[in-house]
Amino acid sequence: MLKEKGNQTSNKEKKMAEMKLIGGYPEYMRKSIKKVEETRMKRKDYTPPAFTPEEQKEVLQLHPDFAPGGKRKLSIGPNKGDVGPIEVLDLLEAYPLIEEKDVNLSNIDFSTEILIIGGGLAGTTAAIWANESGVKTKDILLTNKLRHGDANSIMAEGGTQAADRPNDSLFRHYLDTIGGGHYANKPDVLNALVNDAPFIIQWLLKLGAIIDREENGDFVEKWGGGTSVRRLHSCRDYTGLEEFRVIRDEFRNREIPCIEHYPTVELLTNGKGRVTGAVLWNIETGEYKIVKSKATILATGGFGRLHIRGFPTTNHYGATCDGVVLAYHVGAKLRDIDTVQYHPTGAAYPIQIVGYLLTEKLRSSGAQPVNKDGEAFVFPLEPRDVEASSFIKECYVKEKGITTPTGLRGIWLDTPLIEIKNGDGYIDKAFPGMRRMYNRFDIDIRKDPVLVFPTLHYQNGGVETDPWGKTSVEGLWVAGEVSGGVHGKNRLMGNSTLDTMVFGRRAGISTAEYVKNNNTTLKLTLEHTKKYIKQLKDAGIKTDRRAPILLPDYRGKAVLARMIDVFQ
Ligand SMILES: Cc1cc2nc3c(=O)[nH]c(=O)nc-3n(C[C@H](O)[C@H](O)[C@H](O)COP(=O)(O)OP(=O)(O)OC[C@H]3O[C@@H](n4cnc5c(N)ncnc54)[C@H](O)[C@@H]3O)c2cc1C
Repeated sequence: MLKEKGNQTSNKEKKMAEMKLIGGYPEYMRKSIKKVEETRMKRKDYTPPAFTPEEQKEVLQLHPDFAPGGKRKLSIGPNKGDVGPIEVLDLLEAYPLIEEKDVNLSNIDFSTEILIIGGGLAGTTAAIWANESGVKTKDILLTNKLRHGDANSIMAEGGTQAADRPNDSLFRHYLDTIGGGHYANKPDVLNALVNDAPFIIQWLLKLGAIIDREENGDFVEKWGGGTSVRRLHSCRDYTGLEEFRVIRDEFRNREIPCIEHYPTVELLTNGKGRVTGAVLWNIETGEYKIVKSKATILATGGFGRLHIRGFPTTNHYGATCDGVVLAYHVGAKLRDIDTVQYHPTGAAYPIQIVGYLLTEKLRSSGAQPVNKDGEAFVFPLEPRDVEASSFIKECYVKEKGITTPTGLRGIWLDTPLIEIKNGDGYIDKAFPGMRRMYNRFDIDIRKDPVLVFPTLHYQNGGVETDPWGKTSVEGLWVAGEVSGGVHGKNRLMGNSTLDTMVFGRRAGISTAEYVKNNNTTLKLTLEHTKKYIKQLKDAGIKTDRRAPILLPDYRGKAVLARMIDVFQ
């Protein structure tokens, strides 16, 4: 029960506290669940047809990317004039966090050949392959904002794509991906992705990853949204955790230097456009560290914690767009920043897990999206943007969604169908993470459906690269979610964990090659920040915003108003 706080407890709070829950759901939701149960066996052998291209186009008008508002034009830098989400542009049009007076650039704390910023799958893979390509461990430095592995990578659930089955081909993987990306993908980079994919699976196996197999030893094959064959490799519903486990073990066995809780707050340049290092900042002590590096790889992940258009998110706390901001400060070109990926199936109930991911693999294993009347209304494996839009349509245009006690809307994902189609025990075997998450709230996903609504999931675009992760700026590479081009305007499931390892490896190899042949004396300056500030001023941008933001701020105005001065 909620405690009375004078008169502050609202009627709504009281009502919620008194609400009777049956198997985790309030009674009124149970009425709709009953309808889902009544139609379940009829729906077992029925799947709504996939949309035609015209139907896809129509429903996409409801996607948050297309809905009015939410975007504007960028007014400075190489991408001036491009349209992007306001939340991202606000960071690109913000003042740098530090100025020259804040740091002593002649006092170098670390001097390294290759600096890697961000230790998710992309950064950790890059470090291993730089070492594998001949750079000594002492000449590599991996730096982390949080702990090594506190990243989106370890949260990946569903799987990793690779065209390595007899009925599949690299060509097919390419076509599926470019179709899903609305034909905006960068062809040479996409080519590298699909070509290297089978090698990456073999590499993971060699490192000891336990990838799901059938009784006969064949890989378990799963569909992903927008794939024309079953192409996913999975490790139950914790694929990223398993992939990261073996990759981080390999990294640690090689004893590559790694520091934690030191976010990069600015890159350094030689004053003539080449990146020559970075300024790190200790999250706990506020101390700065200066790193000099011949080559720098940004592997800082995405921007899910910007909560674009107010959506909840699947992402970890460090996903605040830092890499895109840092790269833009030094003049790197971006691409496809106009599109954002909302995963169709984020948890919409209970409130404690709103926005958490429910892997697409649930749908590819038989779970069906259904409305409040128990009707199946969409092909379950449309590309993510189309699937998400059709959920929005069902809830907000057709009014066929279910409203939660806190006023959110969602549609049912009929998970009990999974065991009806695959046999008893399947959910425990394939989705232990999902079972645990809902068990905490007394919801048994084997028996009851779960309520879902789109959630902010992925940064489709980012820093433009060549097929080796090299950016338009000398001395700077990027790998993983921070990059743009490979997924075009909409990433397909299973192509991101793949992209982190393909381009992490490529960036590691490419920087190793670069540093071998590069012995120029490196100057460390913050000249680029001065130029950036000038551009902001010339564009008339007056703001007290500073970026990168490093962590999301969940303190509301009321909390900030009560803040004790000394901590401000
Ligand atoms: C819940 C969830 C499920 C997913 N499921 C799948 C799936 O099944 N298949 C698939 O292909 N993809 C999936 N994805 C997407 C995929 O996991 C990520 O896109 C990918 O792992 C990103 O890897 P990365 O190495 O680029 O970034 P991350 O793994 O996010 O790592 C980036 C690291 O950089 C750090 N960092 C950020 N800023 C700074 C800074 N300023 N200084 C230093 N360090 C910094 C971060 O803290 C983090 O540790 C999923 C994502 C989520 C969130």
